Amino acid sequence: MAITVVGSVAFDSIETPAGKRERCLGGAATYFSLAASFFTDVRVIAVVGEDFGPDEQAVFNARKIDTAGIEHAPGKSFFWEGSYLDNLNEAKTHNTELNVFGAFEPKIPEAYSDSQFLFLANIDPVLQRRVREAMPHARLVAGDTMNYWIKDHRPALMEVLKGLDVLLINDTETKMLTGSRSLVLSAAKIFAMGPKTLVVKHGEYGATAFFSPSDSKTAEHVARRAFHVPALPLEEVVDPTGAGDSFAGGFFGYLASQAELSPKAFRHAMFYGSVMGSFAVERFGTERLQQLSRQDIDHRFTLFRDLTHLD
Ligand code: AMP
Repeated sequence: MAITVVGSVAFDSIETPAGKRERCLGGAATYFSLAASFFTDVRVIAVVGEDFGPDEQAVFNARKIDTAGIEHAPGKSFFWEGSYLDNLNEAKTHNTELNVFGAFEPKIPEAYSDSQFLFLANIDPVLQRRVREAMPHARLVAGDTMNYWIKDHRPALMEVLKGLDVLLINDTETKMLTGSRSLVLSAAKIFAMGPKTLVVKHGEYGATAFFSPSDSKTAEHVARRAFHVPALPLEEVVDPTGAGDSFAGGFFGYLASQAELSPKAFRHAMFYGSVMGSFAVERFGTERLQQLSRQDIDHRFTLFRDLTHLD
């Protein structure tokens, strides 16, 4: 089943304890689609500027990602500058330039309309909502956001949440969204906003899924239906940028490749998410995802099995 994704396609300048990179290809939709492309067909909706050239396009082509929905506009692409010098789990944003995204009107190619899976990657919630409304028949809709939108664009974000089945965000964003220090209470609050599943990413500490209980929404019921996946212990995290989007790509890509969206499929998807996140952080930008093979992914999945197997 094909996935349509809307989100940022960007240039990033990144500084981590391992070094610096200027203007490398990035963006939430870029990481997501590279990761998901190992599991299923991916179609992207975004806008880029004149600085997006054949080298950047080749990265998508190499993974057979459908970029018919990437509009080329006059001006510069989305630009993000961040560092992780104090804390590898949380980016410090130094600069965000929306550029061509500022006036973007998403147009969905006719050929994308049969996508049963829709991912609203990190971007202005107004754009996320427009794409969601244009694809009312999607079978499963998941989405991401970040502190930038939670803080200053809350009403628009609340509208997006109403149309989501699955929300994937990191733990500080979860607490920022709900005002609660407890993830269990946050999950219960987020279920009341729309999503039925909440995936909380904890950076180097893995991720926890909370599945909405149909019978009761008490904190105890929520906690009982949680599922945790670790992150792979790595010698060195070179660049955490895109780990969350790569997690989302592995998670949603795996789900879209399954005949049935069973609880088992969701649990496996959590592991594939963590597998893809673990690759993304091994090199700067999208470098590692570009060199990956399906065999590497299967091998690492086995490592995760060993890491978590009790008996
Ligand atoms: P993450 O997976 O959270 O590390 O996402 C990193 C990517 O998010 C980078 O490649 C940035 O280009 C992109 N990004 C940063 N800020 C924003 C924003 N405000 N809206 C959309 N994308 C962003």
